Amino acid sequence: MKAMVYHGGGKASWEDVPDAELIDPADAIIRVDAVTICGTDLHILRGHVPTVDTGRILGHEAVGTVTAIGSNVRRLAIGDRVLVSCISSCGSCRYCRRASYGQCTGGGGWILGNRIDGTQAEFVRVPFADNSTHKVPDGVDDENMITLADLLPTGYEVGAINGRVRPADTVAVVGAGPIGLAAIMTSQLFSPSHVVAIDLADTRLEAARKFGADVVINPSRQDPLAAIADLTSGAGADVAMEAVGTAATFELAVRLVRPGGHIANIGVHGGPATLHLEDIWIKNLTITTGLVDTYSTPDLVDLVAAHKLDTSAMVTHRYHFDEFETAYTEFADAATTGALKVLLTPN
Ligand SMILES: [Zn+2]
Ligand SMILES: [Zn+2]
Repeated sequence: MKAMVYHGGGKASWEDVPDAELIDPADAIIRVDAVTICGTDLHILRGHVPTVDTGRILGHEAVGTVTAIGSNVRRLAIGDRVLVSCISSCGSCRYCRRASYGQCTGGGGWILGNRIDGTQAEFVRVPFADNSTHKVPDGVDDENMITLADLLPTGYEVGAINGRVRPADTVAVVGAGPIGLAAIMTSQLFSPSHVVAIDLADTRLEAARKFGADVVINPSRQDPLAAIADLTSGAGADVAMEAVGTAATFELAVRLVRPGGHIANIGVHGGPATLHLEDIWIKNLTITTGLVDTYSTPDLVDLVAAHKLDTSAMVTHRYHFDEFETAYTEFADAATTGALKVLLTPN
């Protein structure tokens, strides 16, 4: 079979690899029908994720069809259409029993495309398959479903839920890439008064408007602190979300919130940021960080199936598997290409 293999030093290529095979009785083999590239994959290419060895097949999001199951798999059958979650769950460790699947100590967590071979391939082995996949409801297409593998649960759990968005809140989202857009979209499930998107790329701010931001700010032209002060009678945002992964954007998110506010860090950071405790010790702030657990995925699947969430506009670029390297290049240059999610399907 063919797969997108990481070679270190910023390089990955679509090449021949040994076929995916069942190893453990709880495994399933999934034929990949649709797959995408995550911002995290770009962090891997930049060398920010030291757990990823060279030779690793990348990717942790897919929609596919079950082609083989181990003897312990009970819930899946050959031919089922499934969503492969970015988080695998052993189902029985202390963390999994608290629905903190991202922190699984039983061999799951974020392992696909990280500690084991991932989904950017013609076939993928999914460990703990009963707990780590979700059946695709009839009538939901691959394009909508693929956004539920990582993007939507991350924006919802690590952004909107960890940030404790409440009705009438003013929510500031720093970074309007795909994760920021997912946070903007899912924050609206809690009826905020204002959702403010902040980004240096006007293409991304236009996208933010489509996904429900009612105020957009480009800091190269407008001071976000002043703009949010205007919106909130000088108080500051109730919730600020960081969806980039740099020191500057994290520090901005901290400055944007009112006393008692919440800062939800969603971004993947490759370096330290400064926490200005000399300014914030008195402000009663809550700062959360997180890797998605995907406990919300069944709810999000229901919302998409019921047409209460339409994520299809997230997919902006489509390629076939043999164009994988081009897809990476254009996704990495999102500020120019306007790419949000790129969808890859078999040739
Ligand atoms: Zn991801
Ligand atoms: Zn576990």
